[in-house]
Amino acid sequence: MRRSGPVTAAVLTAALAFAPAAHAAERFTPGAAGAGDPYFPENGNGGYDVRDYDLTFQFEPSTGAITATARIQARATQNLSSFNLDFLGPLEVDDVKVNGRAAWKREGAQELVITPRKGIKAGKRFTATVKYHGVPKRIDDPALGTSGWIATDDGAVALNQPFGAATYYPVNDTPRDKATYSVTVTAPSGLKALSNGEKVKERTRGGLTTVTWRMRHPMASELAMLAIGRFNVTTGRTPSGIPSVTAIDSALDTAPDQSKTFFDTTNTVTDWMRRTWGPYPFTSTGGVVDRIGVGYALETQGRSVYDVGEPGRQPNTGTIAHELAHQWFGDSVTPYLWKDIWLNEGWATYNDWLYTEATGGRTAQAAFDASYARAADHAAWQTVMDDPGRDGIYNWSSYTRGAMTLHVLRTKIGDEKFYRLGRTWAAKYKDGNVTTADFKELAEKVSGQDLDALFTAWVHTPGKPAL
Ligand SMILES: [Zn+2]
Repeated sequence: MRRSGPVTAAVLTAALAFAPAAHAAERFTPGAAGAGDPYFPENGNGGYDVRDYDLTFQFEPSTGAITATARIQARATQNLSSFNLDFLGPLEVDDVKVNGRAAWKREGAQELVITPRKGIKAGKRFTATVKYHGVPKRIDDPALGTSGWIATDDGAVALNQPFGAATYYPVNDTPRDKATYSVTVTAPSGLKALSNGEKVKERTRGGLTTVTWRMRHPMASELAMLAIGRFNVTTGRTPSGIPSVTAIDSALDTAPDQSKTFFDTTNTVTDWMRRTWGPYPFTSTGGVVDRIGVGYALETQGRSVYDVGEPGRQPNTGTIAHELAHQWFGDSVTPYLWKDIWLNEGWATYNDWLYTEATGGRTAQAAFDASYARAADHAAWQTVMDDPGRDGIYNWSSYTRGAMTLHVLRTKIGDEKFYRLGRTWAAKYKDGNVTTADFKELAEKVSGQDLDALFTAWVHTPGKPAL
C-alpha cells in the first residue's frame, strides 16, 4: 500500500496550464533509492509496487553457497527510467532482465540499480528477473542484533527484521510494499526447507529435494522466513481447524513428546488469539524451533521462528503467545514507519500478559504493577514511545511501556470497548499499514472518548506518566 497526498483541483489546473500534459507524460525519471523511513533511509525504494516475489534457491551445504533466481512482478507507480532493489554483497549478480535485457549496476552499500531498455510507464506491470549467486552474509548491527541469512550447524535460517531480507534476495525492503511470495529451495534430501505459508510442491530426484512454499497473503519483506536444516516436522490443524505446520531441529528434539507439545501449544494459543481478536489473518499457522544463536524469537508471517539453545528445551508459552499475537498485530497490520513499532510490540507483550492471566498465571494488572514499579528516574522511561530512535526500536519502551499503555487504555475505556477496539483494528487494517495517529483515531471512535491526555502522557512524551 502506498500513501500519497491529496491532489487538489488548483494544483491540477496549474499543472495543465504550465506544463503540456503530453510532454509531462513522456518524462521518465529514476525511482527513489529509499522509501523515506527516517530510521532506515536506504531501505526500500520508490517508483514501483511489488505484487509477487518468486524466489528459487539452490543450497549447497558444504560451502553454504546459494545459486538463486528472483522473479519479481511489480507495477510502476511513476514513469520509470530506472529503479532500485535493495541487495547486499557479497552476493554477485549474474544477469538481470526486465521485459528483455536490462542494464544494471551496484551502488552504495545496498542498491541494485536496474535500467530497462525502454522506460516503464506509470501503471504498467513488469517482471524483473535477477540471477545471482554466492555465500550470503548475515548482518550484525551493534544496536539491533543479528538479522539476514544466518548459517546454522546444519543449514541456514533467514530472519529479516528490520533489514535482513537484502542479504539473500533483491527486494523493495520496506514494510509498506507487501507482496505475495513463492519460495523454492533445492537441497540434498537429508535436509528440509521451511518457509511462510503452505507447501505446494515437493519432488526428489538424484538425491536432491525441491520444495516450494507459497504465501498467498501480502507479506512485508521483514516477515519473510526461510529455514534449512534437519527438522522433525509436524503437520495438522488447530482444534478450530486452521492448518498448522511446526518443526523442531532434530538435534534439539530430545524430550519426550517435545514435537507434539510444541505443535499442541502453538495450536491452542492460535485458537485463543482467534477467539479473542477475530479471524486468523493467514491460511496456516505454526512455528520453527532451531539453534540459531540470535537470542530472540521472530513473528515471521504465519510461522514464527524460535531460537532455542539447548536440546529438550521448548520456547516458553509466553513467547509463543507473543509471536502468535503478532500475526494480528504487526504482520497483518503493520506500521507504516518503524518509529511506530510499539503498535506491534505493545500488543504482542500485552497478549502475553492476557494469555498468562487466562491460563491461571499472573494477572495483567499484576504484570502492569510490576513494570510500573520501575523508578521514575530510570532511563527506560525517558524514551518517547512513538519515536524511540533508530537504535531504540527494540527497547523496553516499545514492549513494556507499549503493553502498559494498552492496559491503561483498557482500564479507561472498559473491557467491552477495548476488545472491540482490538478486533476492529485487526479487521479494518488487515494486510495494511498503520500509524499511531490511526490507532488513536480508532480508539477514540470505538470508545467515544477524547484520549488526548492518555496519548500525550504515555505515547508522545518521555517520563513516567502519573496514574
Ligand atoms: Zn515482538
